[in-house]
Order: sequence, then C-alpha cells, then structure tokens
Amino acid sequence: MHLRLLCAGLAAATTTAAFTLHHSAPADPTAGLTKEMSARVDDAMAAARAAGVPLHITSGWRSAAHQQRLLDEAIAKYGSERAATQWVLPPSESEHVAGRAVDVGPAAGYRWLQQHGEAYGLCRRYANEPWHFEPLVRRGGTCPPLESHPAA
Ligand SMILES: [Zn+2]
Repeated sequence: MHLRLLCAGLAAATTTAAFTLHHSAPADPTAGLTKEMSARVDDAMAAARAAGVPLHITSGWRSAAHQQRLLDEAIAKYGSERAATQWVLPPSESEHVAGRAVDVGPAAGYRWLQQHGEAYGLCRRYANEPWHFEPLVRRGGTCPPLESHPAA
C-alpha cells in the first residue's frame, strides 16, 4: 500500500513536471482556483488516490489571455466563433478564468469523479466534456442535469 501510494505520487509529480515544461502552467495545479474549489478538488483527488484511481487536473485556472488563445485556436479549428464556443467559451464567460472549473484526467479519473463528485460538490456540467467539472452544488448535493455543451 505504501509503495503503491509512493508510485502514484511519483507518477503525479512526473506528469506535473511535464505539464509545466510544455505549458508553463503553475507547478501547483490548483493554483488560481478559488479557495473553496481548491479544497473540493484536493479532497476528491485524495479520495480517488485512496481508491487506487488516477485523477489529476489537466487544466484548472486559466488567465484571460490563455482562454482567448484557446478560443482563437478553436475558431481556426471549427471555422466560426459560434461553432468554437460549443467547446471553448470567451474569457468573460469561462469558469476556468473565474477559478471555478477544472478539467481532469485520465478517463478512469473523470469517470470516477462523475460517480463520486457529488460528495465533494463537484459536478460534470456538459454532455460533450466528460472531463470538465464545476462546483455546482454544496457537498453532498445533487448535481443538475447535464447541459449539452458550453454556450448551449
Ligand atoms: Zn473545462
């Protein structure tokens, strides 16, 4: 058990380091999240770890400039702002920019979080983004039905 936790910790540290190198993200993946969101995500990640499920943040807080770059890239990819905003919201509307959203991975992790997130007040919000979670309810609450996509 101790060895397994150690390995999970090393894997997480390695992933974080790689992410930092490629994206210049803060070393602490919860940096920039609201205090409440950070606490909820930390608790959920600890519970996943205890259950032997890999769960880490792939994208948490984003600056407005970073969000705008993502939107610009999505517009180039999908051909119009209208199509792009089904995946990437403008900075003024993004909960990532507000520090109240996380994208998590890998798939086993986001499936676990969808099943167990309500205990931590974390809800999957969009049908087309199984990795995206927001603090939509109090801890132990019932998450609302999925919206089809951002900017629905
Ligand atoms: Zn997201």
